[in-house]
Amino acid sequence: MAINIAIDGPAGAGKSTIAKTVSKELGYIYVDTGALYRTVGLNVLRQGKDTKNEADVVPTLEGLNVSLRFVNGEQRVFLGDEDVSEAIRQNEVSMAASNVSAIPKVREFLFGLQRDIAEKNNCIMDGRDIGTVVLPNAQIKIYLTASAQARADRRYKELTEKGQEVNYDNILKEIELRDYQDTHREIAPLKKADDAVLVDTTELDLNGSIEYMLKVIKERL
Ligand code: C5P
Repeated sequence: MAINIAIDGPAGAGKSTIAKTVSKELGYIYVDTGALYRTVGLNVLRQGKDTKNEADVVPTLEGLNVSLRFVNGEQRVFLGDEDVSEAIRQNEVSMAASNVSAIPKVREFLFGLQRDIAEKNNCIMDGRDIGTVVLPNAQIKIYLTASAQARADRRYKELTEKGQEVNYDNILKEIELRDYQDTHREIAPLKKADDAVLVDTTELDLNGSIEYMLKVIKERL
């Protein structure tokens, strides 16, 4: 049976950066489920439709082909034949993903894909509802979080280092808004599973977070 490690938590807590390194160390694949919601959101944006409007979004799922491929252990996400792994990282796609993810048909659409990968592979899967809904039987569950300010600080630093001109207050507001939407939606809201280990990285730097995470996982494997 495949070993599944579920990591959930709010935007910007460092889930993907930490999980990437930890999964390499363990020889597991790393599955970033946010990329799936982002791809659905990107597709809706490209069609010029409203990502918040269920009647706009649901018809875009018809015949839609979203898939993940793993190249040298690295996840690439495809919309049909197009590799959209970079396109989904644009800033406006973050809110689009959060918007479409509140629509039950979108979650249903992506559910089987996530379950299939986890059944067949030792993996670390990260998202918002992995420990609670997608993989309730995961052997290890972690809820990774940090204060909204610490997360905004990191995002600000990351974007300015990339040369983007960004406003700190806007970043913080967007993080708070996304947290609110993700924790308050009716379906599969972001919350800690009862049996998840809480890891708070507010006071930890990246290396510290990775070490701590590896310790938590290895103790339980
Ligand atoms: O993880 P990332 O920030 O890329 O996710 C983008 C959005 O997709 C999140 O804000 C959340 O609304 C949604 N999402 C979700 N369930 C998941 C992963 C992501 O609802 N398992």
